[in-house]
Amino acid sequence: MELTAKERMAIERHGMAEQPPDLRNRNFEEVPYGYTPEEAVAEAQRCLNCKKRQCISGCPVEVPIPEFIALVAEEKFAEAARLIKTKNVLPAICGRVCPQETQCEEVCVRGKKDVTKAVAIGNLERFVADYERENNLMEVPELPDKNGFKIAVIGSGPSGLTVAGDLIQLGYEATIYEAFHLGGGVLVYGIPEFRLPKKIVEKEIGALEDLGVKIYYNSVIGRLYKVDDLFNIMGFNAVYIGVGAGLPIFLNVPGMNLNGVFSANEYLTRSNLMKSYLFPKYRTPMVIGKKVAVLGGGNVAMDSARTALRLGAEKVTIVYRRAREQMPARAAEVHHAEEEKIEFRLLSSPVEIYGNEQGWATGMKCQRYELGEPDESGRQRPVPIENSFFEFDCDQVIVAIGGQANPLITATTPDMKVNKWGYIEVDDWGRTNKEFVYAGGDIVTGAATVISAMGAGRRAAKAIHEDLMKETDETLRPPDEEVE
Ligand SMILES: Cc1cc2nc3c(=O)[nH]c(=O)nc-3n(C[C@H](O)[C@H](O)[C@H](O)COP(=O)(O)OP(=O)(O)OC[C@H]3O[C@@H](n4cnc5c(N)ncnc54)[C@H](O)[C@@H]3O)c2cc1C
Repeated sequence: MELTAKERMAIERHGMAEQPPDLRNRNFEEVPYGYTPEEAVAEAQRCLNCKKRQCISGCPVEVPIPEFIALVAEEKFAEAARLIKTKNVLPAICGRVCPQETQCEEVCVRGKKDVTKAVAIGNLERFVADYERENNLMEVPELPDKNGFKIAVIGSGPSGLTVAGDLIQLGYEATIYEAFHLGGGVLVYGIPEFRLPKKIVEKEIGALEDLGVKIYYNSVIGRLYKVDDLFNIMGFNAVYIGVGAGLPIFLNVPGMNLNGVFSANEYLTRSNLMKSYLFPKYRTPMVIGKKVAVLGGGNVAMDSARTALRLGAEKVTIVYRRAREQMPARAAEVHHAEEEKIEFRLLSSPVEIYGNEQGWATGMKCQRYELGEPDESGRQRPVPIENSFFEFDCDQVIVAIGGQANPLITATTPDMKVNKWGYIEVDDWGRTNKEFVYAGGDIVTGAATVISAMGAGRRAAKAIHEDLMKETDETLRPPDEEVE
């Protein structure tokens, strides 16, 4: 029976059951268990199916949110997943890692006053994608005939996977070159198992391979081939660059070169991609810190801190120079970190890392900050407070203050325009200044989000299609339309 708006309004948001903090802080199993079908239906009934569907414009890939939620309310779970996939090829991933509270849920009418009361769009997306996968209901869509064009994609992160998935469904041959031995980019080397189980990434990449996307692993472009070689030697018609921004940044303070100081990139790659958390089953060693300090306030910092805890740290402290409400991490990750008793030293920044005679980190000296005038990002600028130093002991420091562009591709493609930070310059559709070379994701924007990288991939796929079709209008004209 159809519910009235009043009845829908009366339903409270459904949270997800989770592993309790004192159990999960020592294992790498996923934290939330996911909705039951009954919970999903009840949550879907909260959607008011508004005339002005702001949630769709809050989503960078414009998933038809009210429509998929209506299917959930009717218990048509696999149909809902298939509908999402018309716009988003990685729904089980996005349902887990998108910052919904600043995207679709932020503009949900039910969350206007308090975003935690919005319809749980992310939880529902995750539920239907899991339901479809776990019940073996994933379908391989029918593909059009091949159009004869070959596209090379550099990097198998969310942006590269999206370009390849979109183009193969338009009749192109799509080949991905990936530097690592596994696909997924940050989804496999950055985000830990307890947030995003790797079998889900494997399955979603497997679905793209079933469509015919070819992936060559251990293939570093810039070394194996240059971008121009992909045209001239390999015969590709267009190239998409989606190599991310994984080059670590360190702080310029004394002690950064001590033993026990890691970039978050190395720390998480060792644990996630090289599986050091399963040592000795996997033979990647890891230095286990007892008192760990993590520098930064984004998802990377939360992931590093929570990984350190699970690897056996007795105490983990996050040091962040701004306030809690300015942390760029997803709200759920900050909340989970707090529940797991990670200590937060906010409005604080290190000025020195202390070491012992053997060259190992032993402690940190920090300065306190206060919030001043807004900076160019609109956030209040942190201003150091004079003579406000404090110290604490730590034997491991993980630096998670952001990444930057890896210069390998841009250095070996000198005629491609980059900005002053080394990020590739593109138009709104991902076109670089080089003909038939496109780029998107973090290598264009700097560190951003999974869904924005996917949105960039989607736009570039459209541009590639448009440009190649324009170029070959004559040759592609069906025989019966040919001019006599
Ligand atoms: C630890 C961590 C946690 C995060 N958590 C979240 C989150 O919760 N939610 C969210 O939305 N975003 C999160 N992000 C950000 C998000 O993951 C990125 O914005 C997104 O992955 C960018 O996608 P991409 O495809 O541009 O690049 P990437 O995911 O970085 O993928 C780039 C790929 O290109 C490959 N590559 C690089 N150079 C070459 C080369 N020369 N030849 C061949 N291959 C190459 C790399 O190996 C990699 O596989 C997180 C980031 C990190 C690091």
